[in-house]
Order: sequence, then structure tokens, then C-alpha cells
Amino acid sequence: MHLTFSGRMILYNVIFFIVTFCLVIFFVIQGITLRYVNDAGDQLTAMAQDANLYIKQELHKNAGATDDKTRFLQNANRIGSGLATLENTRVRLYDLDGQLIADSSSTTGEVDLNEEVKMSMTNDTAVMTLTKVNSISTLYYVAPITVNNSPLGYVGYIHYLEEMDNFFSITIVLFVFGGVIGLIVLFIVVLNYSSHFVQPIRDLTKISKEITDGNYNVNIHYSKDDEIGDLTKVYNQMSSNIDNVVLQLQSEQERLGGVLASIDDGLLAIDTEGNIITFNSYIKTYFGVINPKTIYDFKYQSFLRDIYDSLKTGKKRISEEIDCDGRNLLLIGSRIQKTGLEENYMIVIKNITPTKQLQNEQRKFISSVSHELRTPLTTIIGYTDMLQRRHVDQKILDNSLSTINREGHRLLRLVDDLLNVNQFDKLEFDFKKQILNIYDLLVDVVAQMQIKAFPREIDISYKSDNNLPNIYGDYDRLSQLFINILHNAIKYSDSGGIIDVISTYEDQRVVVSIRDYGVGISEAEKNNIFNAFYRVEEDRARSEGEGGAGLGLYIVKEIVDKHDGEISIESQIGEGTNITVLFPAVEELPAGGDDYE
Ligand code: ADP
Repeated sequence: MHLTFSGRMILYNVIFFIVTFCLVIFFVIQGITLRYVNDAGDQLTAMAQDANLYIKQELHKNAGATDDKTRFLQNANRIGSGLATLENTRVRLYDLDGQLIADSSSTTGEVDLNEEVKMSMTNDTAVMTLTKVNSISTLYYVAPITVNNSPLGYVGYIHYLEEMDNFFSITIVLFVFGGVIGLIVLFIVVLNYSSHFVQPIRDLTKISKEITDGNYNVNIHYSKDDEIGDLTKVYNQMSSNIDNVVLQLQSEQERLGGVLASIDDGLLAIDTEGNIITFNSYIKTYFGVINPKTIYDFKYQSFLRDIYDSLKTGKKRISEEIDCDGRNLLLIGSRIQKTGLEENYMIVIKNITPTKQLQNEQRKFISSVSHELRTPLTTIIGYTDMLQRRHVDQKILDNSLSTINREGHRLLRLVDDLLNVNQFDKLEFDFKKQILNIYDLLVDVVAQMQIKAFPREIDISYKSDNNLPNIYGDYDRLSQLFINILHNAIKYSDSGGIIDVISTYEDQRVVVSIRDYGVGISEAEKNNIFNAFYRVEEDRARSEGEGGAGLGLYIVKEIVDKHDGEISIESQIGEGTNITVLFPAVEELPAGGDDYE
């Protein structure tokens, strides 16, 4: 049977009360009985003495030829009746053999004093026993009768203790009544007391439940300095300790989460049952699975399951490259060694697409550069071979030397570009910045490029705002920037075309645009032309005889970035290209500058 603490307290107290109560009743009854029996015993002893005197007198009255014993036997009935009348009680007389010789009452069979008579005969003394006769407490008293020092027989009394029984009845009723009231009072007191006593335990239970539900910052308020007070103090300390530990764990978890999130690779930790222990946000980025619970939630990524299965079957480390949704991913599976027998597994997913692209670009670059270097070198070697082998006239010699010279310059430009890019990559590009007048710079560059454009009858015009402010930059690098753009403009313009260079001042910035009307660039290609080694059409660029390595605009972009500038491109196939470059102005002073043609 399930009993609450209060229930048990009430039960134990009630049992204790009832046992104590019964013991009290028992001892009270024993005491009363003893008292009544003692009083009655004294009374019966006195009656027995009176009986001896009475019998002596009666025998003396009838003194004659016969002895006392005979006379006693002859007058037993009379003597018995006389004694009963004298003492107002029932009297029996017995001879020396224990035979009943007189009974003051005619009612027989209901009482039997034989045992007491025998005991009195044996011990030669008075005997008294307490018994129940018809539910009435009754004393049997038997005493020897001795007259003139000679034993005559025995006198027996039957003494009813009705008064004692009545007293018992009243006492028991009073006790039961008092007991019931006592029980009710006890019940109420214990109930109140126990609920008062149990309240802190209830509080403890409530707090334990809150702790189980994850709320650790809870306290019990109990002001008394007793055992419960000690318990609540320990409990409060414990919950505060748990709270601290949980906070530490949470911050540790957050720290770990931060570490996981800051890793650029996808991370997936799995236990031996295939449950996901932890993962970082890249998992969603890579596979679109939002909150995986098990490895089997990656329905469309069977390669993850394959790696997990291999690790489970005993492999220590696996790495595999896969293509997934247009990305190159490197998967590395390994075991997480734990203390004890259990082991978990970790899969790291690295996006190696940029590395792969770089590798491809480098491969393309090497083949492109080799090709570009080879073409002028072959030309130069071909011409020098020819010049060595046979006598040539002056005109052929001049043409050959001019071709050798042109190809030599082409080689030089290519090597310069490569050196520049190498310097960019090593971040050793040395900028010597100064306040400079971009108008003057553009005048120089345009003049220089006009010479280049002249053989193809391409006309370059330059127009500028009068109040063009200065900018802060490296003269040589900015010259290189505009040379590269103009070089392309010439290269991709038809012979006899025109190129417009315009510089203006807008919104605190110097804006330079270089517009050609050549082949143009498609929308799709526009995004890529600033990438290193990118060339729109390998063949187109090369066929011009001026092919580069796809580095010209990459260098342009690097220089623009290093001057906190911006570059944009507008172009349409067949309609030409307009490249616009913006630099922050450093002063409002007009830079002079008239329109220049
Ligand atoms: P390269 O040095 O090989 O010319 P760039 O980086 O200068 O390489 O240019 C990259 C690509 O952009 C070229 O292959 C070319 O096709 C395209 N391009 C650049 N400028 C122009 C232009 N003004 N008109 C048409 N195409 C251009």
C-alpha cells in the first residue's frame, strides 16, 4: 500500500497512541482489580476469623457428651445459615475431608469451591481465587476452621465484586470516550504538524522537478536553523553548483559552436549508431539538409553513408574527392578516439572548387604562356636562321630585323605582365603614391598609345573637365592601368576605328572612361574578364597577333583596388566597349586641362 509521508506519520502516531492507550487501560484495570481484591480479601479474612469465633460460640452453646468435631458436623446447616445471616453473604462449610456439609444457598452447581478447599487442605491456610460467575467478578475464599486448636473443617465464601465490575464499565466507557477524542485531536495535530514538517520536502520536490526541467537557478526559502534548514542549504548550494556547471557547459558549447561555425569546412560527427552528434552550418550550405538527426537523413548524399560505413567496418581514415552540385568537394572521414570502448566518427567536407579552378587556370595559363612565348620565339629563331643561311638584300634584312624587334617587344610585354602578377601575388607590389594630376598622366598615356594605334589608323581622342582635381596614386602603375585598357581597346577595334578617352569630376571622384567601337564583350564574359589568366576567346586574342596571357585586366583591377577606386564595364557584341574607372579626389584644386585631341 502506498502511503505518503504525512499518511505514515499519522498512522504511526495513531498506532503509538492506541498501544499506549491500551497499556494505560490495562494497568488502570489491574490497579483497580488489585485494590478491590485486596479490600475484599481483607474483608473475607476478617469474616473467616469471625466465622471461627461464631462456630466456637455455637459449639460452646451446645456443649454435651459429643466432641466439637461431631457437634460441628451435626449443626453444620444451622451454623452455615447463621454465618450467612451474620455476614450477609453466601457461606459453605466443608468437613476435614473436603466434603460439602452445609450451603447457605440452595442453588447448587453454579459455583464450585472444591479446588480452593483442596488447596487450603494441602497448605493449611486460607485460599482466595478470582473468577467470573455469570459474567460477574467473583471471589472464592476458603479458610480452615479451628476451634480450641483442633481443626473442624473449612468455611468457604463466595463474594461477588459487582461494584468493581460497575466501576470497570464506567471507567472503560470514559476511557473509550477520552480515547476517541484523543485520537481525533491527535489526528488533527499530527496532520497539521506533518504538513508543516513536509512543506520543505514538498519544496525540495518542486525544485527537483524544476531542475529536471532545466531550470537550475532555483532556491528554497527556509529560515529555521534545524536539520531541514541544513538540508535546504545543501540543496540550494547543489542547485547553484549545477547552475554554474550548466552555464559553464553552455558557454563551452557556445565556444565550441563558434569554433565549429568559424571553420570554413563542413563538419559532421556521427556515433556508432549513425546518430549525428554535431554538425556545423556548412553542412546545410553544402547539402541543403537543415537539421539532420542521423546519417540516413542525407538521402541524396550516399557518399557520406559510404564513408561512414567504411569507417564502421574498421578503416581509420578515408579521403575522397567528389563532384556535388557543380562543386568539387574533398571528403575526409576519420575516427574520433574516445576514452573507453566507444568510438565516434567525423567527416570533414572541404570545398576545393577554388583550388581546382586555380589548378585548371594554372594549367591553362602554363599552356597559354608556353604558347605565347613559343610563337614570338619561333618567329625570331626562324628569321635569324634565314639570315644566317643566305645572303639577303637590305629590304629583307630591314623587314626581318623589324619583325624580330616586334616579337622581342611582345615577349618583353608578356614577361613584364608575368612579373607584375608574380609581384601582386607576393604582395610585394611597391606603390610609390603621391598627389598627382591625372590629366597630365592621361595626356602622356594617350600620346604614347596613339603611336601604337597609328599603324592601324585608329584615332584616340582625349577630353577632360577643366576643373579636374588631383588624386593620390602611383604614377607608373596608373599609367600601366590606362595603357592596358587602351591596349585592349586598340587590339579589339577594327582598323580605322576611333577610341574616346574622357575624364570628368563627379561626386568627389575623378571618372575616366575609355570607349572603343570594336568587337565588344558578351554579357556572360563581362564578369570574368578581370580574373587572372582569363581570355574571352583564346583564338580571337591570339589571332590578332597581339595576344596576351589574360593578365591585362587582372592587373588593371589590382591597381584600381590598391587606389580605393572602382571599375565597371559596359559592352555589347559588335558595338564596342566602355570601361569606366573612378578614383577618390584628394583636393578641389582645378588641374588645368583643356580639351585635348
Ligand atoms: P589579354 O592580356 O590577354 O588581352 P586581358 O585581361 O587584357 O587579357 O583581357 C581579357 C579578355 O577581355 C581578353 O581576352 C579580351 O577578349 C577581352 N577584352 C578586354 N578588353 C576588351 C575590349 N576593349 N574589347 C573587346 N574585348 C576585350
